[in-house]
Amino acid sequence: MSRPIAIIVAAGQGKRTGGETPKQFRALLGRRVIDWSLAAFKAHPSEPLLIIVVPRGTLADHQDFSALCDHLVEGGQTRSESVAAGLEVVDVAANTPVMIHDAARPGLSGRMITRLLAALEEADAAAPALMVSDALKDVSGKRLVTLDRSPLRRIQTPQVFRYADICAAIGDGARDYVDDLEAVEAAGRTVKLVSGEARLGKITYEEDFEVIASLMMGGQTVPRIGSGYDVHQFGEGDHVTLCGVRIPHTHGLVGHSDADIGWHALTDAILGALALGDIGDHFPPSDPQWEGADSGVFLTHAAKLADEAGYIIANVDITLICEAPKIKPHREAMRIKTAELLGLERSKVSVKATTTEKLGFEGRQEGMAGQAVAVLAPAPKLD
Ligand code: MG
Repeated sequence: MSRPIAIIVAAGQGKRTGGETPKQFRALLGRRVIDWSLAAFKAHPSEPLLIIVVPRGTLADHQDFSALCDHLVEGGQTRSESVAAGLEVVDVAANTPVMIHDAARPGLSGRMITRLLAALEEADAAAPALMVSDALKDVSGKRLVTLDRSPLRRIQTPQVFRYADICAAIGDGARDYVDDLEAVEAAGRTVKLVSGEARLGKITYEEDFEVIASLMMGGQTVPRIGSGYDVHQFGEGDHVTLCGVRIPHTHGLVGHSDADIGWHALTDAILGALALGDIGDHFPPSDPQWEGADSGVFLTHAAKLADEAGYIIANVDITLICEAPKIKPHREAMRIKTAELLGLERSKVSVKATTTEKLGFEGRQEGMAGQAVAVLAPAPKLD
């Protein structure tokens, strides 16, 4: 089989989603919507020749695509004109497969491309199709009329053709078709439908962005990560409290609460992952009720907020920075205390320590610092 051609049609103005930037150029899961299909075609072993059709009058704005495809083309006034403009830039053998794809369908996968190219071996054209699961009603008359949905299919893209067939069917694009399949149907060509995929749905309305993103992630939501940092000064005292563990020392840590830098940093990490401010917002140092407080109260509060937001704490990593006291003998006790408080397995809790080679305030033993990272994963859905 000759090297296929992929035409990504990105020429729509995308008015229905309401945004100013057309939907195919908006961000989705860290890339532009169009970049996802572009990446799927680029990664496919058939190494398709890539043609991108951008909206009329925007060629200069989209020069960055030149490096990402073989031909960057300006679209026409209608979809068919845009497809015709894409077909026009190549002159290849009549039986060359041509895949025409909507840029607004970012859920394209390599296996779908493979399935469609294989289907083209058995017919003049191929496309992904889905059954209709909702009831269908004709609302044009005075009364609703229920339609038989069993013979109906929802057709997605890429739609795949042979070069000569699609060129002849589309022509100069003077007649605008709903999709490219309609053009070859009119010419009496055979079409093979393969199983479509929900994730290949078209982004049409604003709410589609989230639905398609979730389907592309396999229903998983992205984890949230937060970091925290805390410092307290040494002062009078005979112990420090670190990650809930009381450790005898020549000095204490000065602070409004028990000055537990480990749990303060961790509390901030969890709040940070939730983008819910910092420990001072939730427990103002000016409030006398937190004087000498057990920092477990702060950490428990942050964990409760995570739970309310629909997240579980997946793992945490705490680093304590000081010259003295020695942390290592107490490290396991700190892991156990932290794991118990958060209801985590001990394997999900890390406590580490480092010195600063006698540099800085920690090195001069004026105080201690704590750092923490927390990863929050979406809680399993129970409903
Ligand atoms: Mg603190």
